[in-house]
Amino acid sequence: MTVSIEQRLRERLGAARAAGRWRAPRTLEGPQSPEQVIDGRRVVAFCSNDYLGLAADRRVVAAARAALEDYGMGAGAAHLVNGHTRVHAELEDDLAEFTGRERALLFSTGYMANLGVLQALLGRHDTVLEDRLNHASLIDASRLAGCRTRRYRHGDAEHAGAMLEATAARQHSRLIVTDGVFSMDGDHAPLPALAALAQRHGAWLMVDDAHGLGVLGEGGGGSCEHFHLTPSEVPVLMGTLGKAFGTAGAFVAGSRTLIEGLTQFSRTYIYTTAMPAAVAAATRQSLAIAQRESWRRAHLGSLVGRLRQGLTQLGLGDPGVVSPIQSVILGTSRLATAMADALLEQGLLVPAIRPPTVPEGSARLRITLSAAHTETQVDRLLDAIDRLLPRDRRAHPAAC
Ligand SMILES: *Cc1c(COP(=O)(O)O)cnc(C)c1O
Repeated sequence: MTVSIEQRLRERLGAARAAGRWRAPRTLEGPQSPEQVIDGRRVVAFCSNDYLGLAADRRVVAAARAALEDYGMGAGAAHLVNGHTRVHAELEDDLAEFTGRERALLFSTGYMANLGVLQALLGRHDTVLEDRLNHASLIDASRLAGCRTRRYRHGDAEHAGAMLEATAARQHSRLIVTDGVFSMDGDHAPLPALAALAQRHGAWLMVDDAHGLGVLGEGGGGSCEHFHLTPSEVPVLMGTLGKAFGTAGAFVAGSRTLIEGLTQFSRTYIYTTAMPAAVAAATRQSLAIAQRESWRRAHLGSLVGRLRQGLTQLGLGDPGVVSPIQSVILGTSRLATAMADALLEQGLLVPAIRPPTVPEGSARLRITLSAAHTETQVDRLLDAIDRLLPRDRRAHPAAC
């Protein structure tokens, strides 16, 4: 007895809706900025990854416009055919210099970069060690690679070390891979400990620094700069361009050998159209701005401090988390959704993040801040959370 795909889909959709896991896109009018009109409603948004406020920067837009004139819209082909323009080559050089590595390679998205790296580097007898809370693309990457996969407890370098001991085998390679800053919790991976382990065991360490680059470190060099880690301690550095750099796409930076290996073997590099040259040109501009205008990081840091302090006073949040990603864990999907809806009524867009994106029982509000936010906007959010959140949901209600 077969079940039609239609029937199966209807059942699964019904179950998702009943479990409070329904997802639907909202429609944004105009550019990414804290004040925006979405689904016809004027809101202050606290959910963009545009950490430095560069997504709609007029200099970035002007660079794209100029490149559109010179190169047209579409790249027309993959990098290895004839889609790799002068601007792509220059951006790769800029990214190599920015990350202090020999070379960098562009990918069309971060998701594809992660798939492509693991698939190119690991065979079926090799092992990847993943933090349990790694980004979905890294989890999927190990499936595409077909390698052995071990997942260590979140942020637990000791657990990763025990796995390295247990998986040592002649002729087989090991790769430890972790988010630099975790996308849902905003905490840092224990990179110095992981780097030391990798070196001790002859393994490689890969850091997906989607949320660290541009944001952390004096010059925006990300998690590696923050922890003073050298390229040899983090041989594979992956970064995305659609977050702090405000454009689109991704890159991997590392040694000449790594980049040559990815160029030859990475299927998500080889079999896809290059990003438009205009995106590469815009990224060259935003990368320069991100490095030069350190006031953006300073302002963002002070907003994060203000938000953390406010949340702590409300008995919420995790004071140990210092990134622009701040989670307010509420437990059930229903409560998280109700809070997000109530905030939206007040003109504040804060998404509810629910399982399976986060572990069961840890549905939450995920607040992200940008250098484009103001202190007044942060205060308004704190005030609304204080008024709307039931008292019994706070870990340690403020004495008052
Ligand atoms: C966003 C993100 C990605 C995917 O990058 P895209 O360019 O959006 O595909 C990969 N890893 C992490 C940790 C991310 O946050």
